Amino acid sequence: MSADLLLQRHFATDLPGLAIPWQAEPAPNPRLVALDESLAVELGLDPAWLRTPKGVGLLTGAVLPPEATPVAQAYAGHQFGGFSPRLGDGRALLLGELIDTEGRMRDLHLKGAGRTPFARGGDGLAALGPMLREYVVSEAMHALGVPTTRSLAVVSTGRQVLREDALPGAVLARVASSHLRVGSFQYAAISGDLDLLRRLADHAIARHHPAAAEADLPHLALLEAVVAAQASLIAKWMLVGFVHGVMNTDNMTISGETIDYGPCAFIDAFDPATVYSSIDHAGRYAFGNQAVVAQWNLARLAETLLPLIDPDQERAIELAVGALDAFPGLYADAWAAGMRAKLGLADQADNEATATLVADWTSLMHRSRVDHTAAYRALARAARGDNEPVRGLFLDLREVDEWLSRWSAQEPDAALMDRTNPVYIPRNHLVEEALTAATDGDHSLFDRLVEVVTAPYDERPGLERYAQPAPDDFGTYQTFCGT
Ligand code: AMP
Ligand code: MG
Repeated sequence: MSADLLLQRHFATDLPGLAIPWQAEPAPNPRLVALDESLAVELGLDPAWLRTPKGVGLLTGAVLPPEATPVAQAYAGHQFGGFSPRLGDGRALLLGELIDTEGRMRDLHLKGAGRTPFARGGDGLAALGPMLREYVVSEAMHALGVPTTRSLAVVSTGRQVLREDALPGAVLARVASSHLRVGSFQYAAISGDLDLLRRLADHAIARHHPAAAEADLPHLALLEAVVAAQASLIAKWMLVGFVHGVMNTDNMTISGETIDYGPCAFIDAFDPATVYSSIDHAGRYAFGNQAVVAQWNLARLAETLLPLIDPDQERAIELAVGALDAFPGLYADAWAAGMRAKLGLADQADNEATATLVADWTSLMHRSRVDHTAAYRALARAARGDNEPVRGLFLDLREVDEWLSRWSAQEPDAALMDRTNPVYIPRNHLVEEALTAATDGDHSLFDRLVEVVTAPYDERPGLERYAQPAPDDFGTYQTFCGT
């Protein structure tokens, strides 16, 4: 198996201006903590082999096939609105690309693999808890049908990582359709090397948006394609109640996959103002602000592409603004279609009455601060004739009864609702509980949580606690950056 392993190096050879060859720091005592076997198989890797010392060597960057050229990728980025011209992989490495069993090119990337030339003041390391958080949340997102980078494995390194306390260190092996970010384009644009920028754009078109190559203006078409991919992605986040938490331009992909699970979380009470990140004081990346921020980030991407779109800057701006202006409509349409499905109304016409039902429902949920995930499953029971579970969630019964009677008249499809609305999401208190136990050496809760949230729609007996909101004493949840 390992003999056919072929790590390609397209990024490293196509874009040397954005890639610094680098080696992972060896892990003193590597132990495989989590492995997604079905993803391994999809990648053409043998899960049993990945569990051997050589396999773990691949997953930590210590034992690579001779052809591999691991690189730290360069990128810039707006972080909370402020521009940093040089961020890059401070603690990550792109090992190379794999061709999966369906012929798709996938990046194999390590996070927490030691300091690189982009590390600045950082130690280049990652603690086990945050890497397991990325693992479980990204795997849940994938199971929920949200485009995302994937988590192949987490290996604990046997090295201590100093945060507020000394914590066990780990490396995450991440798989993505690429790691191209808005920040990659920002880095290339400010380098002043127009040829580098053009090669980056063409690499992105070839990998993610090949139809753009056929357009009259391929780089405008690239922008349009990224705008569409992000509009669809952010709508999916909103429908499932996901808060990314740190939507800096270096954390926004060109592929349209969710990337970089740091201070992310799922909302419980439905409230657009929800923020979990301990450093997001102004609520820039609040739940309800994500579409606005995405469009802002896309405007930064558009700026980088101007010289490729048209040599006449006025003309280039006019075209780019046109592409950006499509975002709100694409987003609103994707969100509204998703909401109709969540309410079991997908077959109904996209009409004013349905739009009013959707708007009234979200306003009811907001005012009663109902649990976002539980509400839709309770509503599916109402579609089957039992209104009590959903009535029990709301404060004002008169209002909810009035809404339920208008909604039932549309004959909602309960089976569609159960296929669309998850029972199980990685609830914040469950994630915290699992990561705390794993940090103390007990992985059983983590394994169980992964098992539950990777089959999110199908309700199983014995898993009641995974479907319930956090107990009241869990308090206001906060997640922390600098992980
Ligand atoms: P993030 O907020 O995780 O997206 O990271 C933002 C930037 O900080 C990226 O350039 C990371 O590579 C870098 N970074 C984060 N943590 C570390 C660390 N422990 N050591 C070195 N660089 C880091
Ligand atoms: Mg990042």
